[in-house]
Parts: sequence; C-alpha cells; structure tokens
Amino acid sequence: MLVVYDSRHRLHADPQLRHPENPSRTIKVIEALIKSEVSSQLSFVGVREPEEEVLLLVHDPEYVEYVKKESSRGFHYIDPDTYVNEHTYLISASYMTTTYYVTLDSLSSREAALVVPRPGGHHAGRSGRALGAPTLGFCIFNYAAVASAALLKKTDKVLIIDFDAHHGNGTQEIFWDDGRVVHVDIHQEGIYPGTGDVLDVGSGAGEGKMINIPVSAGAGDETYMWVLEEIIKKLVEVFKPGALVVSAGFDAHLNDPLTSLAVTKITYRNIGAYLGELLARNEVMSVVSVVEGGYGEGLVPGVINYVNGLLTRSKHPNDVKAIPAGLRKRVKDSLKSNLSRYWGIEIRT
Ligand SMILES: [Zn+2]
Repeated sequence: MLVVYDSRHRLHADPQLRHPENPSRTIKVIEALIKSEVSSQLSFVGVREPEEEVLLLVHDPEYVEYVKKESSRGFHYIDPDTYVNEHTYLISASYMTTTYYVTLDSLSSREAALVVPRPGGHHAGRSGRALGAPTLGFCIFNYAAVASAALLKKTDKVLIIDFDAHHGNGTQEIFWDDGRVVHVDIHQEGIYPGTGDVLDVGSGAGEGKMINIPVSAGAGDETYMWVLEEIIKKLVEVFKPGALVVSAGFDAHLNDPLTSLAVTKITYRNIGAYLGELLARNEVMSVVSVVEGGYGEGLVPGVINYVNGLLTRSKHPNDVKAIPAGLRKRVKDSLKSNLSRYWGIEIRT
C-alpha cells in the first residue's frame, strides 16, 4: 500500500494546539502504522511541491488564490471553525498534488493507496464552503475529489464511499451533476454541515448518483454493516466501478468527542476487508483512501483496523448483524424507492 505522508503537516497548527484538528492526530496514526503488523506492506511516499494545475482540476482559481492570500497573512480563522497559517497553503496544496500523482501510480501498479493529510478535505467544495454549509469544517482543499479526478482519466465510473461522521458536502457538490461519479455518504443527521438529506440525489447526469444515508445519533456497527451489505455491495454489482475513492473519517467511532455515533473497529475492519477483496479480485483497478476526520481515541484503532482489513482481506472475528437499526422510517423508505428507481436494486429493510 502506498502511504502519502509529509511530516511538514506539523506546521499547520493553532498556536495553543487546542483545536481538535491538530498535528498529534496524524503523528499518532503514522506511528501506529509503522508499528502495525502490516507495516512491511506499506511504502511511504513523500509529498511533491504544489502544482496549481492539479488544484484547478477540482477548485476554482479564485478559491486557490483566496487560500494562498489568507495563508500568507499568518495564523487566523477564516471562519468560526477553520484556521490557516503561513504554512497551510503549501501543506494542503502539496498533499493535493501528491494525492493526484499517487492515485495515477496506484492505477498502474494496482496497489491500494492511503493519503494521511492535514487538515481533512471532504468539506471543501469547488469554491470553498459547499452546498450552503456554514463553514469549511477545518478543510482547505479536497483530496478525495482530486483522487477521483485522477481516476477519471482512466475510467468513467468512480465510486466514492464516505464513512466520515459528517456529510462530505464538498465532494458531493463537486460531482453533483457529473454523472461519472457515484457518491455514497453515510453520516450523522442534524450535525455540521447540515447537508446530505436522503432526498438529495444529484441532478442532470448525476441524478440518482448521490446516495445520502443520514443515520440517527447512537447508530453503530449493525447500521453500518447494513449499509455495506444492502447498499454498497449491491451498488458495486450494478454500477461496476472502475476504481474507488474512500473518504475514511473515523469520527463515527463510539468515543469521538465531536459526534454521537457508536461505530467500533469492527465496522472499519469489515469495510476494509470488503474493499481489499474487490481489489484482489481485480474487480476495481484501485482503492484510494483519504483519512478525513477522527478526533478521539477511535482514530488510531480505526485507521489500523481499516488498513488491516484492506491488506489482509480478513473480517473482524466478532460477527455483527446487519440491520438498519439507526435509520428513521422516512430514510429507509426513501432509500428503498431511490435505489429501486435509479438502480433497480431492492434493499431489505
Ligand atoms: Zn468528520
């Protein structure tokens, strides 16, 4: 597995290190990956210098200039959630550029890739705040979107799976009417950014390709396994994506301080194992995962279990029933009718 990491990420920080999105998150993840049982299967890739053309694949030139300018002013908040400092542009833009090239490499080597960036990216839309979100939600540039843009050079069918606890509004806005990208997003309803209703399905060529699964507070492994079995696996059979991008946020974990979901390492392991199988069976050319959120104790075991699943293709030993326990009736009914209408998929609820 190709792992993108740049130790300069430490320079993107708030002076008191009080913000939940701070360097210790990524430092701990990398340390744990190096010590993990699959460390011999990881090849670390340093980052490249920024190439503006790569950023412009998914962001407007005005927004790129805005980030550059704000960053050059030193540490300050650009909205109530999101800070920048004099290093932010360089770091986020370097990760973007490297994500793009590593995704192309992963396509030719048929090797999975994992991007461990800072800050996260999935809330950043084409010109910043996306789909009416109040803030950028800590994000600057959208790595999952640029990975998808790279994959679209080689296939016209990309599946994005976003299991971060927050809706990936930036990614969804970027591919809203694209038609070549299917975006499945499972997130906690009613929290930031307030987008991702089940009735939001995309438009134009993208109609039916945005699949939003808002789950209630307290939803855990049973619900996530239901999404995997009933929606993701069935969709993969029908859509037959050429490659996959995963916005792998670990803030749906039971212990995350920012959300109220109840996912454990079982979910992360089992999703990883399924995606690893798809790659091993050559059903997809590549699986590119981008670490998004994760602000508590769940982040490190989450990443480790997910990567383990992907590389060993073995599920967690504890069995979990797949039942839509944490979904409102309205959500289940709408998913049922949308999936039947757009995909001919019948889901069990
Ligand atoms: Zn999140």
